[in-house]
Amino acid sequence: MICHRKLWLFANGMGMEHSSEIVYEGKLIHEHSYVKRSEKFEEVTLGGIKVDYYDKKRKVIHEVKKSDKIDTAHEWQLKYYLYVFENAGIEGVTGILEYPKLRRTSEVILSERDREEIIIFEKEISEVIHSEQCPDKTETKICRNCSYYDFCFSGEEMD
Ligand code: SF4
Repeated sequence: MICHRKLWLFANGMGMEHSSEIVYEGKLIHEHSYVKRSEKFEEVTLGGIKVDYYDKKRKVIHEVKKSDKIDTAHEWQLKYYLYVFENAGIEGVTGILEYPKLRRTSEVILSERDREEIIIFEKEISEVIHSEQCPDKTETKICRNCSYYDFCFSGEEMD
């Protein structure tokens, strides 16, 4: 949903997230926003995903975003988490997207239509990551905040 090139690079072992200042800022928001709530939540690793804040008692996954705007990709990320939980036999889980900078939350649920869409996305993702060629640059404003910015644009100036 964001950039096929980013997906391909990450899936093919060229991860840069650990060195990105933006990711570091996101981690700080996680730690500071949840410092008093950590005992209530569990970290869950399941089916290739890692959920930082799962409220087992209420069956709610909390996903915290540092962004100052609500994004469809955030919603689909959380829907995918719900899908993975469901496929692992954990039924009735819902999600809450949290935007500490905006002081907003948004409830996320998984519909039958979403399940069908996710199956299509998985097929499309598989095609991208198994492609021989690294996809072309997206070259949109999201590049400025991407951990691959230097990799994609070293020696170039974006407009
Ligand atoms: S910098 Fe832009 S083109 Fe390069 S991977 Fe990131 S989003 Fe894609």
